[in-house]
Parts: sequence; structure tokens; C-alpha cells
Amino acid sequence: MNERKHVALVAHDNRKTDLIEWATWNHRTLLDHDLICTGTTGDRIERALADVVRDEGLTAQPVNMRKLKSGPLGGDQQLGARISEGGVDALVFFWDPMQPHPHDVDVKALLRIAVLYNVPTACNRSSADFLISSPLMNQHYQPMFESDGERSDQNGGGELVGETSEP
Ligand code: PGA
Repeated sequence: MNERKHVALVAHDNRKTDLIEWATWNHRTLLDHDLICTGTTGDRIERALADVVRDEGLTAQPVNMRKLKSGPLGGDQQLGARISEGGVDALVFFWDPMQPHPHDVDVKALLRIAVLYNVPTACNRSSADFLISSPLMNQHYQPMFESDGERSDQNGGGELVGETSEP
């Protein structure tokens, strides 16, 4: 991972306000990175950050965001695919623990792939605070993978794992 990271931000509807508040509070850090968001989350965060950028005169540092499809329409799966390609360095995913969703299987798959690829993942605000305030956010970092050899032997997935697991 480089100093400038690809940070994925996703929130279920009941958690969007919380994530937007968090993103606004942490805008200075987030503006140093490239953001990847599912559709609706991205629209709202982009608007909120654009307001802060304008209000604070930070126009030299525009919001750099790639928006995927909305989560229920495949956005979570797109994000999972990006993780498997090495395109996500950190995931902040405020999923809703109180309500079922039509795309719960996609949510589970996204969290699974994030764990598999050792992507730093925060699912609530405290974890997100710890993640974003880590000095590693602004440093080069080489993630290690547990049992890489076994996984790549068993599943033929050695290429990416091999590339990213070097010390
Ligand atoms: P959304 O998707 O940002 O398009 O609402 C998030 C999700 O439900 O996974």
C-alpha cells in the first residue's frame, strides 16, 4: 500500500448519517486519499465533503471519489471484486445490525473477502476512528497474509497473494 490509499466507504441506510458525520469530521484525512463508495453512500458523502471543501476553502484538494453501483444493485459485489484485485486498502463499512436487507448475501461476501485479503476493516464508528487515526494511514504498508501458501496451493489464488505478501 502506498501513502495515498484507496479507502472504501459504505453504509446501510440507517447508518448513513453516522458515516457522513464521521467522514465530515475526518475530511482532512480523507481528502489525502482516493475514496471508493457504493452509489448512494457515495452521493451523500461527496455532497457533504464538497460542502466542507467549499466552506473551508480547500478547493486545491478536491474530493477524489469513484462511485460504484448502489449496494443492493451490485455495488457490494463490485467492491468485493476490487478488493480481490488489490484495489482497496481500507474499508469502512457501517452495516446495519438491526435490519435484514435484500442483499445480505452480498454484504456477507464483501466482509468475507475483506477478511480474506487482510483489508483493514471498520464496521462501527469507534473502529473507524482507530483506523483513520493510525499513523499507517499515511505510510507505505505491506500487509501480511496468514497461511498464504496453503490458500494459494488449495485454491489456485497464488498470484495476488504472492504479490502482496512479500515482507
Ligand atoms: P448504497 O449501498 O451506498 O448504494 O446505499 C450500500 C449497501 O447497501 O451496501
